[in-house]
Amino acid sequence: MNKDHVNESFTKRYMLSVFIIALLSTVALTLLHVALKSNHSTAHIVTLSEKQRVLSQRIASLSSRYRSSVDSSSNLFLKNALLSSIEEMHATNKALLSSNIAPITITVSLSAHKEALYQRVKEYLFLAQHLLQMPSSTQDEETLNTLLNLCDILLVDFNKLIEQSQREGEAHIRIIKNLETGTWLLTLLVLLVEIIFIFQPMLHAMKELFQKTSCQHHELEQNVRIRTLDLEQSNLKLQHLASHDPLTGLKNRLHMEEVLDRLILHHKINHLPFGVAMIDIDWFKKVNDDYGHDAGDFVLCELAKIFSTTTRYEDTIFRSGGEEFVIVFNRIKPEDIMARCELLRQKVEQHCFVYKDVEIKLTISGGIYHPDEQEVCNIREILKHADTALYTAKKMGRNKIIMAAHTLNTLP
Ligand code: GH3
Ligand code: MG
Ligand code: MG
Repeated sequence: MNKDHVNESFTKRYMLSVFIIALLSTVALTLLHVALKSNHSTAHIVTLSEKQRVLSQRIASLSSRYRSSVDSSSNLFLKNALLSSIEEMHATNKALLSSNIAPITITVSLSAHKEALYQRVKEYLFLAQHLLQMPSSTQDEETLNTLLNLCDILLVDFNKLIEQSQREGEAHIRIIKNLETGTWLLTLLVLLVEIIFIFQPMLHAMKELFQKTSCQHHELEQNVRIRTLDLEQSNLKLQHLASHDPLTGLKNRLHMEEVLDRLILHHKINHLPFGVAMIDIDWFKKVNDDYGHDAGDFVLCELAKIFSTTTRYEDTIFRSGGEEFVIVFNRIKPEDIMARCELLRQKVEQHCFVYKDVEIKLTISGGIYHPDEQEVCNIREILKHADTALYTAKKMGRNKIIMAAHTLNTLP
């Protein structure tokens, strides 16, 4: 499973669960509104019914007082009071019929009961009005009794209406409470499903992705490390190739300049002595001519070994070109460099180079430079001094080591 796929899959699941939770919250809120509205309607019906009950009693009381009153002024007062009560009860009756208990109707019995009550109230008010319109002298006991009886019935009806309204309102509340509990449980269920099917797999997938990424990262690091090592090795090889002679394995002229530069600097700052010997094989061309180029190569390699075993650890041997060698002696006195080069010359002279059963004998000549004998200058001049000394050695018959001081006069 790749990163994009994981992202897409979890975004879809997450959006779906958020949508479901939002839907459930909306349903819960709507139910709460319905519950409040239902309560309000129930309270309204109860209030109106209470009012009707009071008004019906008042009308009954006013009617009997009006019929029994003989005083004309109190008669007028009672008549007016009765008229206004009749009007008020009439208006309340209409309001009661038009009021709804709630959008969710549990039972129709309340509406049917209200309708019957409406008709009965109308009848009651008609009777009251009829009684009022009769001349005060007329004694209509029967109508008054009917009115009073109807009043009792109305009182019972209104009581019933109040009780029924309250019962239905409570039933509404119960249902809405159950619906709310159901919505709450459903929300919890959705959250649980979300945890099991979204968050847990998401965590798992993320863990896998993280592990995969860290593995790739580790692999990449390993590759980079291997590449870096390869490059370092190649660089070392290149450096070695650039600074060493492939035939003898000795350092070449490039490296020599570096070493000499450092020694000159040390000498100038710390007055550390050093020496440079330039060595050349005598009549080497003849070796090539007599025994072949390979024999010449063999001699060069053998000579490099003799030089290496005869010099000290701190000395460095260079093949400066062709059959010429330069040995840089570190921290050495003039007499010591002379002695070492002389030893070298003797060793070569005594050595027998055996190449393919052919014995080859040869000698070397050398020119030495030492700062005690010659003022320190630059590499070029140091080499020039050593080369001139070598030239002198050659001139003096070869197989000789000459110190540059003695060649001062011969410098061009
Ligand atoms: P001198 O005593 O005056 O130095 O005489 P020489 O013969 O040694 O000097 P010359 O300059 O006449 O000849 C040097 C020879 O060294 C010529 C060349 O063929 C040979 N040479 C240079 N480099 C190599 C090499 O790498 N291998 C072989 N076999 N010969 C080489
Ligand atoms: Mg030469
Ligand atoms: Mg030579």
